[in-house]
Amino acid sequence: MGVEYEHYLVPEDPTFKPAAEPLSRLLNALYEGGYVNGSDARGLGGATFGLFSPEYAAALEAGCLVNLGPDEYATFPIPCSVAEVEALGDRDFRLLWTVGDLVESGLKYPLSKVAYEETYYNLEVHVARDYVNHLSSIIEPFEHRAACQCGQLLEFHEGSPVGTNDRGDFARPVFGDTRIHRFCPVCGVPFRPQDYTIRLRYGRTGEDLGPRPGGATYLFAVLIDCGKCYDREGPVKASEEFLDICQEATGSPLFQIGDFSGC
Ligand SMILES: [Zn+2]
Repeated sequence: MGVEYEHYLVPEDPTFKPAAEPLSRLLNALYEGGYVNGSDARGLGGATFGLFSPEYAAALEAGCLVNLGPDEYATFPIPCSVAEVEALGDRDFRLLWTVGDLVESGLKYPLSKVAYEETYYNLEVHVARDYVNHLSSIIEPFEHRAACQCGQLLEFHEGSPVGTNDRGDFARPVFGDTRIHRFCPVCGVPFRPQDYTIRLRYGRTGEDLGPRPGGATYLFAVLIDCGKCYDREGPVKASEEFLDICQEATGSPLFQIGDFSGC
């Protein structure tokens, strides 16, 4: 094991979630900007497949994948129409691209500094039905448990592991993190993550980066998962162009959170 790095872009306003139109604009802008490959989803005819299937590996190689549910993946067309994003519905989903070698891919790097020659990373776009409450060894939980004004506790777990599929594979939910109801299941009042604040820390040195209302709780995020391939001199930042593209397309100012995991 070594330390792994994940770079999150989350809306300044944690209640923000892009509708289908700005989300399709973002995906197409990432494609036109040279940050993701296009993919022709017609090849697999819309069938879903599991994480350990040959279809998964082939689809990831070919372009964009969408994770629709526990061990449920499909191809996704890039560029895409608003209708194709709308068809994903009000469920949790993650759009995934994997880059095995940045130079070979011909793509632009979304972070400000390329640290290694054979840079690899995954780029993900997360859209959640209820809040994802991302925690880690450096992102601490809220001081008080998330609760509605009526007293109802709002955290829930999707049950991890959620069991195995018919092939005996482990089936993880779309988001492995703790979840928080977007609306109170008892009285319907919306949860406001920004009423809860955590202190962010820089993972490498433990330096206090100040308060962050809402922590890393989100309905929408862009994630660059660097694995062990990141700039160890840090701090890691998104490139200005990549950040601009994401902010302009979604119409939302984005906040950057660096997360370290592993040991
Ligand atoms: Zn309530």
